[in-house]
Amino acid sequence: MEKSYIVGVDIGGTWIRVGICTSDLKEENIKRRITRTKKENPNSISNSVCEIIEDLLKENNIKKKKIIGIGLASAGPIDLEKGEIFNNANLGFKIIPLKRPIEKKFPGIPIYLINDCNGAVLGVHYFEADDREKDNLVYITISTGIGGGVICNGHLLLGKEGNAAEVGHGLVEPKSKEQCNCGAYGCWEVFSSGTGVKNRALESISEGKLNADILLKIVNNDITKITAKEVFQAARKGDKLSKKVVDDCVFYTTVGFGLVNNFYDCTTIYVGGAMMKDHKQILPPIIKQFKENPIIFTVNNPPEIKLIKLSDDIGLRGALALVKYKTEKHKVISKN
Ligand SMILES: [Zn+2]
Repeated sequence: MEKSYIVGVDIGGTWIRVGICTSDLKEENIKRRITRTKKENPNSISNSVCEIIEDLLKENNIKKKKIIGIGLASAGPIDLEKGEIFNNANLGFKIIPLKRPIEKKFPGIPIYLINDCNGAVLGVHYFEADDREKDNLVYITISTGIGGGVICNGHLLLGKEGNAAEVGHGLVEPKSKEQCNCGAYGCWEVFSSGTGVKNRALESISEGKLNADILLKIVNNDITKITAKEVFQAARKGDKLSKKVVDDCVFYTTVGFGLVNNFYDCTTIYVGGAMMKDHKQILPPIIKQFKENPIIFTVNNPPEIKLIKLSDDIGLRGALALVKYKTEKHKVISKN
């Protein structure tokens, strides 16, 4: 029998990653391509995706009819029914159609759309989780923002339009004066996302109460150069202000994980995202807290907390796993 193929696409605010793989999803068979996300008009993304798929097919001598499905894992919010992205703050347009324009170029091939974090938890489910974890699994990304994907009782939670588990906008400090990109105050990502860490550091510098000499030295006194990376670097070297910002980041992440465990009673929380470059300052204190004194943060038995191994590849893997599971009618994505 001739081989069949799966296409996976990971659409983010900065990068689009496309992969094509034999339907066995063996790691060594994945051919990848990455490009910057174009934001010229609402069709730029779908045009890029189609071009790259065509290129990959040509380069690898694969015929269109051999593709059994295209999985699109995209930054949200998404409208699963209409197959589009709406209200995304980073992509520049109120509505970005995805499914229809790609369908036009690849008629007859099933196209499946999923919110990126919901896709990523499928990636973890397929490629990383062990059997004991698979039925009650949460993936959390801590990056520019914070997002989540949940598998509970063996089923992926999608919600009414496909945007379930927006955990980063969970309120962790209701009386906070710190406003989130979403408009609310005191969301988890206000304190613990990359953007949050940067903003909290800048704010604290302008208040002038804590010493930030080490941080300022790292950026040559140019505060416009401060990102979460420099704040974590300075904290490691003992910078007082940066240490406080990192402590807050960790504290609110513990609160966030505790809430997630209260809501979903998960076996394992897998953590990924750009902020995990500094996982050594974030995860060990949380793991210790849940081991020694979980009750302050969660009433349920605490979950295991693990760093994902797939790092930047997780979105693409999720998109590939989605097609595999759809094709096989796997129970993790069935509606009942
Ligand atoms: Zn928010």
